[in-house]
Amino acid sequence: MNTKNDLLSLSPQQFINYLRKEKIKKFYFVYQPQNKTMKSSHTQLQPMADFLVSDTRDFMKHEGLFFKVSEKYDTLLGASVHRTNRGQAAGGVRYWNYETMEDYLRDGLRLAKGMTRKNALAGLWWGGGKGVMAHNPEIDKYDAKIREYLYKQYGAFISTLQGCYVTAEDVGTHVTDMGNVFSKTRFTTCIPAEVGGSGNPSVPTARGVVVGMEAGLDFIGEAGLEGKTIAVQGMGNVAEPLIGFLFEKNVAKIIATDVNAEIVSKVKEKFSGNNLQANVVDQNDDSIFSAECDILSPCATGAILNPRTIPLLNAKIICGAANNQLEDSMCDDRFLQKRGIIYIPDFLTNRMGIVNAANEQYGYVNNDPFFERHLTNDWEHSIYQTALKVLNQSKETGETTCQVAIKLADELSLQDHPIFGHRGEQIIATLVENHWHLN
Ligand code: NAD
Repeated sequence: MNTKNDLLSLSPQQFINYLRKEKIKKFYFVYQPQNKTMKSSHTQLQPMADFLVSDTRDFMKHEGLFFKVSEKYDTLLGASVHRTNRGQAAGGVRYWNYETMEDYLRDGLRLAKGMTRKNALAGLWWGGGKGVMAHNPEIDKYDAKIREYLYKQYGAFISTLQGCYVTAEDVGTHVTDMGNVFSKTRFTTCIPAEVGGSGNPSVPTARGVVVGMEAGLDFIGEAGLEGKTIAVQGMGNVAEPLIGFLFEKNVAKIIATDVNAEIVSKVKEKFSGNNLQANVVDQNDDSIFSAECDILSPCATGAILNPRTIPLLNAKIICGAANNQLEDSMCDDRFLQKRGIIYIPDFLTNRMGIVNAANEQYGYVNNDPFFERHLTNDWEHSIYQTALKVLNQSKETGETTCQVAIKLADELSLQDHPIFGHRGEQIIATLVENHWHLN
């Protein structure tokens, strides 16, 4: 079995069986800019590399993809390094179910590219990358012992990459898991606070969302949140402090929904005495989209802006923390633009989680200027300045805010790190030279 479709359509577990038969424990696909090809560590896997490089949707000259099968529990561990001009590829490790190898590889490509953009637009000296662990459905992923083993394996795997990728927390990965990763590698952020980590990123993320909202309001000439009505989808870790910050800014009313009744009653109690109208809803409830408001803030799940929900919207601005709010990033933002709704791209406004962890190796100071400047109105890469730049350029050119933000991010992502230059590329070349896949 060695054709493109054969390998890509296998489930991760079937693929692991194939690797075992071929006696492959580790493999990589590395981009060769001189001939615009992706080189595989193993000739049997070259059709997969050829498929990746020919893809125009998710592939964007990713510098290297690295994979290993865990020694126990047959779990595929991966790291997708997109671009490292600005520094080591940084982004969290996702632990998720994947039906096919194509889904698994694509998720790594897509998420890594997204991290390059988020980091560059934030002016961080980090490149972009993402970890992907494919859940083996035959194991209990909630078993603490199994998790400990797998995340230690993941940490050890990251160490072998010699620093071209720095991992962090992401969907499916929790702070305890990060402690286990950290026990095997220095190339991680988001470690528990007890061992020097930066702690919970939700409050900083909420602060960033508030700044994004203020930029949107300034852009449409309605300065300030005071007296405004805000609709918030989700009332979890980010939304709860967000609601608090909005009341501090004297908004007139907040309409909020969550699918979890306990969370709704907890938040309602916390903000009793404020004008909070909070409802428990079903997962597919659309009421929040049609709520009459100045700003809709998606803070629950992704893909909620789509042809079904966009016609319902009754907001002037959309600005929230949820990742990948547009169901189809190629056309849903155009639909919003046609409706005259200002969309502040999620990867611009929800950056404070990564900003919070980005400099944790440099220690902590009160009111850290390297953190706080993201929330100011004057630093060139601040959320406010970047949002205004994006909104103004979108108005001038007719491009959507997402298109403008992506273009801006892609330009920034090609700037080389002021001290280390494009070192990630050199690390990858070293891994190849040292036969990483055989060690
Ligand atoms: P969370 O899980 O604490 O909160 C999400 C809430 O949304 C939950 O309470 C959940 O019950 C609710 N929810 C789910 N589906 C819903 C629906 N259909 N309608 C209403 N409520 C629904 O997550 P969080 O940490 O608050 O993050 C919120 C979003 O922001 C996520 O998409 C996350 O990926 C993104 N994000 C978070 C951070 C961070 O610092 N936590 C940083 C960047 C991006």
